[in-house]
Amino acid sequence: MTDYDVIVVGGGPAGSMAAEAAAKQGARTIMLEKDRDIGYPVRCGEGVGAFGLKKFIEPDPAWIATTISKVRMRSPDNTLIDFGMDDAGFILHRRLFDYALANQASQAGVEIQTRAYVDGLIIEDDCVRGVKYQYMGEHKQLTAKLVIAADGVESRVGRMAGLRTATKLKDMDSGYQATVGNIDVDQEMIDFYVGSNWAPGGYLWIFPKGNGMANIGLGINGIYAKEHSAHDMLHGFLDKYFPKASVLTSVCGGIPIAKTLKKITSNGLMLTGDAARMVNPVTGGGIITGMVGGQIAGDVAGLAIQSGDYSEKAFDGYPKRWHKAEGKTHEAFYRIGEGIAQITDDQLNKIAHRLVKTPSENLSLLKIFTAVAREKPKILLDVTRAFAGI
Ligand SMILES: Cc1cc2nc3c(=O)[nH]c(=O)nc-3n(C[C@H](O)[C@H](O)[C@H](O)COP(=O)(O)OP(=O)(O)OC[C@H]3O[C@@H](n4cnc5c(N)ncnc54)[C@H](O)[C@@H]3O)c2cc1C
Repeated sequence: MTDYDVIVVGGGPAGSMAAEAAAKQGARTIMLEKDRDIGYPVRCGEGVGAFGLKKFIEPDPAWIATTISKVRMRSPDNTLIDFGMDDAGFILHRRLFDYALANQASQAGVEIQTRAYVDGLIIEDDCVRGVKYQYMGEHKQLTAKLVIAADGVESRVGRMAGLRTATKLKDMDSGYQATVGNIDVDQEMIDFYVGSNWAPGGYLWIFPKGNGMANIGLGINGIYAKEHSAHDMLHGFLDKYFPKASVLTSVCGGIPIAKTLKKITSNGLMLTGDAARMVNPVTGGGIITGMVGGQIAGDVAGLAIQSGDYSEKAFDGYPKRWHKAEGKTHEAFYRIGEGIAQITDDQLNKIAHRLVKTPSENLSLLKIFTAVAREKPKILLDVTRAFAGI
């Protein structure tokens, strides 16, 4: 007899979705979160697409800061291109959004324990059988039939079980973001700045949060992060363009723009969300993809509990279903991201000069793609091969 059927480590979007899905399959499930609060501190730009989100939860004005209908891109030489959007986007209040997801999980029967820092695994007969954790200064442990690690980008649980979670420098962006007040930006528009002067190997973003506030952040690719500090670049940007803005809070964190880990399961263990590297490698967005991965992991966990088999073999459906739902596109995006990384500032400017002549309503994906391909023909090949799975 184990304390629980399923233990989920980490109370972010991936963890809550995993826990909820497992509980819905009848598994006795507990979710352990190291911080005092679910959803806090927020280490995120908080931007999501409405379409992806609505598959999991009904949008609630309580946790939606702004609704986005316009996108603007700024090239290295300051050329502005306005895009329309097929799908609306939201800038969330992640603190409240993560609460809502955890609440949804608890309503499905999940127990939640905050301030529970998992610092070890119980492993018997080469199978994960539970976790060791610290709670309010006490060392405790819980047993379970299986564990789902949704412990984010800095995940230690996978490593504890012997999975290879190391990520190459080029596959990790160094992110730094400030939530600022006293700023006058279009509340329906998100702004992206591309080029090495704004964010080498990555991009800078401005996401409006309503009431004169915005999330302004940037991600610098790992290979440039030694010479360029994300913190210094962002503060340089704020001083120059928004000198009157006040920084209300700031966060830093790694953004894995990697392929999903080769192995995301072992006996008694599944990794999900950032811990499994499920972030979109081009945009760095990982909220929705983490929820997709988490839900599949939780569902597979529930089925494994019903079958009584918690071996790695019993979790086969998890990587397969992830691959079908997102993983295949994810791999294609990874290869496209590699191509994009080769585009120089000069080429970005030329692409922008071509696109700026097209009215935003006529700026189809094909037009953008054609402009990019004219400047960088190899990308045409990369995209075709990526989507053909070659
Ligand atoms: C600066 C920045 C900006 C970003 N902007 C966006 C954006 O605009 N849109 C988007 O979609 N994505 C964005 N992302 C990525 C996004 O934040 C993540 O992909 C997403 O949060 C992943 O969800 P998750 O549940 O896998 O991990 P997390 O949300 O990181 O949750 C993991 C949880 O596990 C807990 N935990 C960790 N270790 C332990 C342990 N040992 N014991 C117990 N609990 C533990 C953590 O406290 C945390 O609550 C951004 C990331 C960064 C760094």
